[in-house]
Amino acid sequence: MSYSNYEKVFKQLKAKPAKLNKYIKHNKPKERKCGIALRRCQRCGRIRGHIRKYGLDLCRQCFREIATELGFKKYR
Ligand SMILES: [Zn+2]
Repeated sequence: MSYSNYEKVFKQLKAKPAKLNKYIKHNKPKERKCGIALRRCQRCGRIRGHIRKYGLDLCRQCFREIATELGFKKYR
């Protein structure tokens, strides 16, 4: 199972529909209306270190990796 995406296991469990339903029942993430976990990084799914400024919607780690590609010259 992955922190970033719980749906990754679906591929494995497709052959066993009963197990898949049980997995969904017990492991589906909570539907959020507010809070820190509502916004995730668009690139990796990380919750913490989120940057909303300029509509980036990335975590700080992903931002550091692709900042120059996005056109940022100074970002530290
Ligand atoms: Zn990220």
